[in-house]
Amino acid sequence: MDDVVIVGGGIIGASTAYFLSKEGRKVRVFERDPTYKNASFPLSLGGFRRQFWQRENILLGKFAKEFIFQLPDLLETKKNGKPTVSVVPNGYLLLFDKEKAQEQYEALKNHKACDAETKNIKAEELPNVFPWISSEGLETATYTDSKIEGWVDPHMFHSALKNKAIEFGASFEKKEIKNLNEIKAKIIVSAAGCWTNKLLSDIPVVPQKHTVFRVKCPKHIPEMPLTGDLSTGVYWRPEGKEYIAGSPNSKFDSPNLEPEWNDFEELVWPALAKRVPVFEELKLTGGWAGYYDTNKLDNNAIVGKHPKMKNVYLATGFTGRGLMQAPGIGRGLTELITTGSYRSIDLTCFSVDRVLSEQKRKEPYVL
Ligand SMILES: Cc1cc2nc3c(=O)[nH]c(=O)nc-3n(C[C@H](O)[C@H](O)[C@H](O)COP(=O)(O)OP(=O)(O)OC[C@H]3O[C@@H](n4cnc5c(N)ncnc54)[C@H](O)[C@@H]3O)c2cc1C
Repeated sequence: MDDVVIVGGGIIGASTAYFLSKEGRKVRVFERDPTYKNASFPLSLGGFRRQFWQRENILLGKFAKEFIFQLPDLLETKKNGKPTVSVVPNGYLLLFDKEKAQEQYEALKNHKACDAETKNIKAEELPNVFPWISSEGLETATYTDSKIEGWVDPHMFHSALKNKAIEFGASFEKKEIKNLNEIKAKIIVSAAGCWTNKLLSDIPVVPQKHTVFRVKCPKHIPEMPLTGDLSTGVYWRPEGKEYIAGSPNSKFDSPNLEPEWNDFEELVWPALAKRVPVFEELKLTGGWAGYYDTNKLDNNAIVGKHPKMKNVYLATGFTGRGLMQAPGIGRGLTELITTGSYRSIDLTCFSVDRVLSEQKRKEPYVL
């Protein structure tokens, strides 16, 4: 009988393995594809932010920043020294039109209650802070400029967590689990990402294909934050000397990860050029698609013990924010498993019971 078995060695599995093994638990992680070709985390944009509606998402975003900035010390290993994750702390900028503004003013109350340190300005003031932007059609905007939001390299983040978990005694093994009954362990954690539903058929998490494009523009604006235009759903950020831009179009039931190339000319480029006039002169240089682990009930995470199973815990449904939530979820699950309750951020609102009884909690700020 094993102590803890985690199914899925992605970012959530690696983080949970790190926090549990740090507490002295003996952890085995089963991952069916150690190349992580189709896993969500390597295909993500690596963003971490605290600009959400739900308080728990704001708090998880704050912890992500804290963890990422301490990461070289926390995850130093004898074998690899101090890891780096290439942090770019450019901040986030979210843009709202009239229709979305009222909801954002409500969200700002939650930001304030959580000391999120976000700034809010009227749309007409935007060009004073971000001279490259056109505020046409916008009502308000929220941003941070104190290096508390940004992005990291997702691969390096995952490797750092995995390597430290291994140093603490965890093992990562290549194995596909077809049925949780195969596992003989005191504790089972399902961290199977968008494939969770194949193991736990009552969990409404499904793969949702999202496409991102890589583009080149003669004008390079390296200080640009990760910008999300909630009036069109298009988001973008600098990537080296280029930019990455995400399509607002997403697809359920897509059997492959072929990017939706037509979205670029039809949706993404017009929205970019309207918002950032220098983006008129863009050249498409590449792109890819990845699966969001989408919670079809309400786009919020599902975390905790499965009420109908004796020893099964799960963490999934992050709907585009699992990378940044990984540290807080790994820590929270570890608290729940080792002490029976949450000690730092109370994640009870993400419980499996909530989802099984279909109690929705909205999180509108999905990019
Ligand atoms: C285009 C894109 C952009 C994104 N941008 C961001 C962002 O900026 N910030 C952010 O925080 N998040 C972002 N995300 C979301 C983030 O990538 C996911 O929420 C996160 O990776 C989920 O982590 P996970 O470990 O649950 O799933 P995954 O990373 O998919 O890992 C799950 C693992 O489980 C394994 N597995 C599944 N079933 C089994 C089984 N039966 N047996 C064994 N192994 C199994 C899989 O092989 C996989 O490796 C983005 C996602 C995409 C696609």
